Amino acid sequence: MKYISLLGATGSIGTQTLELIREHPEKFQLAAITAGRNIELVREIITEFHPPLVAVQTKEDCETLQGEYSSDIKFVYGEQGLVEAAVYDKADVVLNAVIGSVGLYPTLQAIEAGKNIAIANKETLVTAGHLVMTAAKEKKVDILPVDSEHSAIFQCLQGEDMKNLSRLLITASGGSFRDLSREELKFVTLEQALNHPNWSMGSKITIDSATMMNKGLEVIEAHWLFDLPYDQIDVLLHRESIIHSLVEFHDSSVIAQLGTPDMRVPIQYALTYPERLPLPSAKRLNLAEIGELHFEKMDMDRYRCLYFAYEAGRRGGTLPTVLNAANEAAVNAFLEQKIPFIRIEELIETAMERHHVIENPDFSAIREVDRETRRLVHTLL
Ligand code: NDP
Ligand code: MG
Repeated sequence: MKYISLLGATGSIGTQTLELIREHPEKFQLAAITAGRNIELVREIITEFHPPLVAVQTKEDCETLQGEYSSDIKFVYGEQGLVEAAVYDKADVVLNAVIGSVGLYPTLQAIEAGKNIAIANKETLVTAGHLVMTAAKEKKVDILPVDSEHSAIFQCLQGEDMKNLSRLLITASGGSFRDLSREELKFVTLEQALNHPNWSMGSKITIDSATMMNKGLEVIEAHWLFDLPYDQIDVLLHRESIIHSLVEFHDSSVIAQLGTPDMRVPIQYALTYPERLPLPSAKRLNLAEIGELHFEKMDMDRYRCLYFAYEAGRRGGTLPTVLNAANEAAVNAFLEQKIPFIRIEELIETAMERHHVIENPDFSAIREVDRETRRLVHTLL
């Protein structure tokens, strides 16, 4: 039995993790959950899974829930609540599926407490990958990828010697606007941006896919997870999302991982690694039915956010923190319909240009730069 502390239980990855727990009650149990503001769903999760520890975002929601349940469930809130769930002694693994750099501090605390981490929350690795990976090495805990591309790479690398690895090829579906020109991007709506062709995901990552920032964040995520320089990490446009990524070795052999698009597969692999479990409800891949797979070179002029991410990753220091924080703030503004789609990348570019990079930042420097960048984007709005 594996006890899971699930951060972000009410989100897209969170609820798919709950489906897996439901499908394998003999293998997985919930030790703790955290949620943001979706209290109605928290009630449903409590009724079905009885987690002993529940963290929510606000004090008010915490007090409301405390009043409704008996004292054998502990309710906590805010950042401290996230940390309590992350270090909870009954948890064997922490699945971090919160959105945004709010996931960083609980991740560092979980590592400090010796927990293995299954990480969906890519913003944490983008904003402070050096802190996370150094701490994980020191504490000898595993950082297991949940993101489908990184899970694919991780699966392709099993049994391989990393010194034979020459390149990672991360595939990208292209998001909602893959067939539009830059000129056409000026007129797109929020509704169109939220309509992803292949995946049903939370709204922030769906917008990140439309701007291609998601792939940029994933390049930085791959750099940290697999310890490879940026010139050995490439992105390939692949509309069908069947090949989830590929690795190339020195002898020119390439290994890929394939499957129908279903996030439960990489989530489950991160939870069972190095074992596998059957997943009868997953749709089997039928290549004969699909017939053709397509690949295109990634155009860095068309996808400015991908270009910015490579820049930020290569420059390092606090620049990836700025990239991530500016993106989070800009995407929020777009979701609130305060700015047009094309303005997202302009705000990120301005924030990066104005930033004076701090080398090898510690946690407090990261946090300060994250806050400053969000403030800057708000003033630019
Ligand atoms: P969602 O927006 O669907 O869910 C986010 C979760 O985080 C929810 O439980 C939400 O709570 C909670 N949350 C949001 N803000 C806060 C906050 N300030 N404090 C505490 N909790 C908060 O996101 P996704 O599940 O789509 O994505 C989660 C992570 O996984 C992201 O980093 C994303 O990039 C990554 N990922 C997602 C994939 C997908 O298919 N969805 C694929 C690969 C990676 P509530 O809803 O209750 O407010
Ligand atoms: Mg991905």
